[in-house]
Amino acid sequence: MEKSGKRTGTRPAIFLDRDGVLCREKGYITEKEELDIFPETRDCIELLHQKGFLAICITNQSAVARGILSEQKLQEMNEYLIRETGLDAVYYCPHHPNGIGKYRVSCNCRKPDTGMILCAMKDFEIKKESSYMVGDRASDILCGQKAGVKTVLLESGYGSLCLESPVSPDFVYDNLKTFVESGALFL
Ligand SMILES: [Zn+2]
Repeated sequence: MEKSGKRTGTRPAIFLDRDGVLCREKGYITEKEELDIFPETRDCIELLHQKGFLAICITNQSAVARGILSEQKLQEMNEYLIRETGLDAVYYCPHHPNGIGKYRVSCNCRKPDTGMILCAMKDFEIKKESSYMVGDRASDILCGQKAGVKTVLLESGYGSLCLESPVSPDFVYDNLKTFVESGALFL
């Protein structure tokens, strides 16, 4: 987990999936230069901060378990993502049950499991009842629901036409910008 080092308190958070939410969905990427961050992402995160929310990325990175990406490279990518977007932290799951070496684990952090959100809630003393999980896939919505936060499905990545399983998010928006500018966000 990489943190930006900002002071924290008892605040709500917007948990954000990475690909399809903060940057374009491109399949596995292995270099920070390949992170195609949406032009609006930085402003969206600034607006979330102004509204009193932490902005925390929650991302499955099984490319590590598959041997495509080293954990060190992933951490560099996360630090770059924090610098470019103003995120408060990035939590990642490098595991996969069919992965290699120490990453071959049936863990409790890979979405739709809730390990990453629970860990962030503890680290940042997050106010769960006003927090949201935002993603473009069924696993994001299921993860948010299991963790007890509100859920938002975005159409900017896989979206509702490509759901792996039927889910009922609390909100559906075209992209992160329309969500953060909407009236849905209240503390
Ligand atoms: Zn994991």
